[in-house]
Amino acid sequence: MPTHFTIPKTQRVAIIEETGGSIVIKNDWPVKTQAELAPGECLVKMEATGCCHTDLHAALGDWPLKANIPLIGGHEGAGIVVAIGDNTANSPVALGDRVGIKWLADSCLNCEDCRNGREQTCLDAKLSGFNVDGTFSEYAVSFVNHVTPIPDGFPSDEAASILCAGVTVYRAIKYSQTNAGNWIVIPGAGGGLGHLAIQYAKVRGLRVIAIDSGEEKKELCKKLGADVWIDFRESKDIVADVKAATDGLGAHSAVVTAASSSGYTQAVDYLRNGGTLMAVGLPGEAKLEASIFFTVFKSISILGSYVGNRQDAREAMDIAARGEVKVHYVCKEIEELKDVYEGMKEGKVAGRIVFDLTK
Ligand SMILES: [Zn+2]
Ligand SMILES: [Zn+2]
Repeated sequence: MPTHFTIPKTQRVAIIEETGGSIVIKNDWPVKTQAELAPGECLVKMEATGCCHTDLHAALGDWPLKANIPLIGGHEGAGIVVAIGDNTANSPVALGDRVGIKWLADSCLNCEDCRNGREQTCLDAKLSGFNVDGTFSEYAVSFVNHVTPIPDGFPSDEAASILCAGVTVYRAIKYSQTNAGNWIVIPGAGGGLGHLAIQYAKVRGLRVIAIDSGEEKKELCKKLGADVWIDFRESKDIVADVKAATDGLGAHSAVVTAASSSGYTQAVDYLRNGGTLMAVGLPGEAKLEASIFFTVFKSISILGSYVGNRQDAREAMDIAARGEVKVHYVCKEIEELKDVYEGMKEGKVAGRIVFDLTK
């Protein structure tokens, strides 16, 4: 492994200078020098970064939490560690290692949340592309304790989307209180999160009911191993269709990533007794309107699952690196970020978008 990298003084970044403002590409943004890195920080030369709906929320400022402005977004990045801050003790990564930067950039590792493995809810959590600069840049500062090692031979553009979309659905399925052979419903199965959820569910031996719409998504879901397909535009009664596919009893779990409340209400209806609803999407406004009566009467668990910790990220990454989960994505250049956001606002972006930062 090389022990020294030549690091330029300036770089190209995609930046938002005011909340709700549009993306500006700057070619003269400063790169932190090795001497400027604090202990525990590392500089990552980015190779690829995914684009997530959360980036759009951060840019628009439509969440109850507000992002740091000016903001360099992005939190699904893969690249090479080219510098580590002086006096960094026991770094789990070394110069030259290829690593991923996820939403949770850093946490204190010592509070009750961190000790319980819930690093995401640490009060001192640093969030990539939100309260610390993210991955829409050629060089990103991150933190040695939280970057995710990327196994050799697993390309950076494929690894990128595992770091948010992949980890998020992987963790939700991991905690869905299901066993091999159980039924899990994935609404939005043909989308960026959904298509990964199908594959992680199959790795765990679950039977998958994919809900989405259109011939293209149907084919994708079937190809990825969905056992049952329900087209929500053609179905007259989704709850009845799920029950019909599951011996009339309903599914054991559902991973709901939807931005609207109807997806959640419906899930309580189609889950069987003792079923688990995993709430994963992060809409700014929507309320969860489940029937309290039936939540109690059916002993339904409703669990919020928020991205993932260091261990979840490693597990999700290793499964994908072994080829058991494949990301369907389109590669673009960072200059196209503005158009990608416009497409996302209109709901026109299918699958994942990954930006190649090596050009
Ligand atoms: Zn994300
Ligand atoms: Zn903590």
